[in-house]
Amino acid sequence: MLKFLTKIMGSITVLIKKNLLILLFLAFFISTLSAKKDNYLKSTHLTGNTLTLTFKYKLDKVKFFTFKHKGIIKYVYDIKNAVLPNTQSIKKYKYVGVSAFRMGQFSKNYLRVVIESKYNNYKTYAVHGNLLVFNLPKVKKSKHSVPKKRRVKKNKKQLPTVIIDAGHGGYDIGASSGKIIEKKITLSLAQKLQKELSHRGYRTKMTRDNDKHLHLYERTDYANAKKGNIFISLHMNAAPRRKHRNYIYKGIEIFYMTGASRKKRYSNRKIYTSQWKKRKSYLLAKKIKSKMLSSVRKKYIVLDKGLKENNFWVLRGTKMPAILIENGYITDKYEGKRLTTSRYQNLLVKGIADGVDAYFNRK
Ligand SMILES: [Zn+2]
Repeated sequence: MLKFLTKIMGSITVLIKKNLLILLFLAFFISTLSAKKDNYLKSTHLTGNTLTLTFKYKLDKVKFFTFKHKGIIKYVYDIKNAVLPNTQSIKKYKYVGVSAFRMGQFSKNYLRVVIESKYNNYKTYAVHGNLLVFNLPKVKKSKHSVPKKRRVKKNKKQLPTVIIDAGHGGYDIGASSGKIIEKKITLSLAQKLQKELSHRGYRTKMTRDNDKHLHLYERTDYANAKKGNIFISLHMNAAPRRKHRNYIYKGIEIFYMTGASRKKRYSNRKIYTSQWKKRKSYLLAKKIKSKMLSSVRKKYIVLDKGLKENNFWVLRGTKMPAILIENGYITDKYEGKRLTTSRYQNLLVKGIADGVDAYFNRK
């Protein structure tokens, strides 16, 4: 009997223990259930191509489906037991390739997120605890995509203007050596440079596009009126009649303004010699010389005559950073001949354009 009683008592305690476990489990289940009922959306973030929703608790189930309407794919996410407070919204987000972000309390138990896009997206979302992460479609950069078109339009507004000044012209022929005449080469170089720079997307203005004479102040007046961002004057060098013994008369040299002299060449015109302009002019000269040399040196041996300060009028009468390029010596037997060829002029022009790109950080 005693044996039987203890047996019964034993099974009762086991029963109670079992029930207790079940009860405990039930209590836990109910508590988690009720917690999930108030799984509020706490915050939203859009960074790169991911949109992240942060909830108060670990997420329950997410039902996902898509449908197409008028060429637009609607990516629909129904998040179970999630609650949308009226302080949260994803309408504000802008993402290239997504035409709309929407979110709403679809039913008592479901929060619905809809992302509209015309792009296919294979990897759409992932759940990490209380985070729901959407992978937004990566838009392929094609000629016809919307974002690129927009970018080009924006760039057009901000395009820098390059003033190209072909040295000399008309009765002022510049330097000459036999049949080689400076004004002709500067015009040819200027026309090539104009073509190349506009091809690269710059706005260009030429002080002269034919064989006409211009005063120096007319060149700077024009540059200032056209609101150029930089000014490039093109010239050819020539050895003086009386040559210095230890000086080599060939190679490329570039001048930028010196602030030393305040004396004006034209009394009725302003000079512009700020430190900012000097610094920028030096930078422009440096970038262009380096690119010019690396361009021409692909085919020829060309001397680097360096960067020099000078108070040439075109360098001081311009509001914008300005340089004067001596592209080479027409008096040198080899360099002179070379300067008249299209092949060498193209190399010079490519170098100058590369330098302009480098100055504007476009390369
Ligand atoms: Zn000249």
